[in-house]
Amino acid sequence: MTVSKSKKAKCLTCNKEFDITLKTKPFCSKRCSYVDLNNWLGEKYAIEVNENDYDKDI
Ligand SMILES: [Zn+2]
Repeated sequence: MTVSKSKKAKCLTCNKEFDITLKTKPFCSKRCSYVDLNNWLGEKYAIEVNENDYDKDI
């Protein structure tokens, strides 16, 4: 095995390069992961909670 170059990935939130061994991947930092998570859950979570409520009606 040869490690010629360190593996880098691009943060999905800010597009900054970071070491792929970071635990925060695919984000460069926890902050960026939260930003993305909030964008995501902001809509999705609300919808799913509503759907579950309506499901009980059946
Ligand atoms: Zn980032």
